[in-house]
Amino acid sequence: MTIVDVRTPDPKKFIKGATGDWEIVIGMEVHAQVTSEAKLFSGASTEFGKDPNGNVSLVDAAMPGMLPVINEECVRQAIRTGLGLKAEINLKSVFDRKNYFYPDLPQGYQISQFKQPIVGEGKVLLDMPDEQVEIGVERLHLEQDAGKSLHDQHPTMSFVDLNRSGVALMEIVSKPDLRSSDEAKAYLTKLRTILRYLGTCDGNMDQGSMRADVNVSVRRPGGDFGTRCEIKNVNSIRFVGQAIEYEARRQVAILEDGGEIDQETRLFDAVKGETRSMRSKEEAHDYRYFPDPDLLPLEFTQEFVDDLSGHLPELPDDKKARFISDYGLTPYDADILVVEKASADFFEDVAKGRDAKLSANWVINELFGRLNKEGKELSESPVSAAQLGAIIDLIKAGTISGKIAKDLFEIVWTEGGDPAQIVEDRGMKQVTDLGAIEAIVDEILAANPDKVEQAKDKPNLVGWFVGQVMKASKGKANPQAVNDLLKQKIGLE
Ligand code: ADP
Ligand code: MG
Repeated sequence: MTIVDVRTPDPKKFIKGATGDWEIVIGMEVHAQVTSEAKLFSGASTEFGKDPNGNVSLVDAAMPGMLPVINEECVRQAIRTGLGLKAEINLKSVFDRKNYFYPDLPQGYQISQFKQPIVGEGKVLLDMPDEQVEIGVERLHLEQDAGKSLHDQHPTMSFVDLNRSGVALMEIVSKPDLRSSDEAKAYLTKLRTILRYLGTCDGNMDQGSMRADVNVSVRRPGGDFGTRCEIKNVNSIRFVGQAIEYEARRQVAILEDGGEIDQETRLFDAVKGETRSMRSKEEAHDYRYFPDPDLLPLEFTQEFVDDLSGHLPELPDDKKARFISDYGLTPYDADILVVEKASADFFEDVAKGRDAKLSANWVINELFGRLNKEGKELSESPVSAAQLGAIIDLIKAGTISGKIAKDLFEIVWTEGGDPAQIVEDRGMKQVTDLGAIEAIVDEILAANPDKVEQAKDKPNLVGWFVGQVMKASKGKANPQAVNDLLKQKIGLE
């Protein structure tokens, strides 16, 4: 691959060394398990958490004479993913054998795609806090997963579980366009969001259905690319960030010391927060790639691709743009809402026919804030979109104040129920009756004659009086009415 540098060096991202600045360069290879009921070349189930070797067909176990048969659903999923990455779809691609020996690879080779992948160049847009960055995708190819070796079950024996053997993976290779650990984390997050919207991979890194190999090098800002190390199989977004920070500094220290970087494959030790050498880098020729004689080239028509393209769901970038233009949300709020499709849908349920900004505020600050605090998922929220909408309706109608609304939210969260009914039953209605408010205002003014005098020169003190009246009314007085009355009585109007 010829590498074209598309980025302008940004001093904010540099590592300061003793001999000057260094720029980090990162490229990622993400393995994403294709959402499909059956494996890539066999009919065995892909169900997670089955008993060891419970999902293994004769093909997955590489019994002599067994022949692979391509699963059309996996092909469709790979094309849909390519379309979601705005990538070129190759109407003809080829499966190759990548030869190596490992106990969890009974065939003695992995069926992958080497020179002619199913998907070519694409891109992923990142919305960083102060810039938008476009990260190039080099390619996406289909390949089989290997099985799993288990070494910690028995003191002297190892076991092999072939459930994962033959499961379809998409390997999505980025260009070396990332320049910081934050960008790398944002890239993985965005990629996962896109895959989840498309329904082509569940993106669950803790179950291994999305894994990242992280290539890291350092160089003088804008200079030639440096030698990279590849950190294998990092299984959380946070660890990707930590691995990059550690690895870049390790390389800078070596270079500043006059040393050279060995191109090698490394492992990330999450406990120590360090990367460790695993083996020297293997080269493509080590694998003796050749076209798999058991499989025909993969060919499909442009109509097939167009049909899939016509049925893609709304993707996160488009949804974000729509939330900004149709609902008037800030890019920041829109970003938070579109990360998960479920949150975007929840927001739209709440906002339907209501003040969108107020709805976004309540969904993000109150609901998400509360869910976060309790470590709950949106799907476990005790407050439904309909209930939250009803609370917002009560605020909008002036039935309750914003402050009482928070108490109401708390009640609905812990006890459930119909918000309007709760307000009725518990006497939480805002007092808009001017007579009642005036009585409280008069009482507070009479109790604080010196403050009233001060307020005549310092109008800011009105805020203090509003606070007192609100307290005395247990939060039920209409704050605007209180404010107006106070100004009038103190003589500020
Ligand atoms: P291989 O197949 O040998 O792993 P590739 O050329 O396909 O190598 O690149 C693999 C990954 O390494 C890609 O994501 C690419 O962006 C990244 N990469 C290539 N060169 C560098 C570099 N100098 N620094 C950081 N990442 C790099
Ligand atoms: Mg690689």
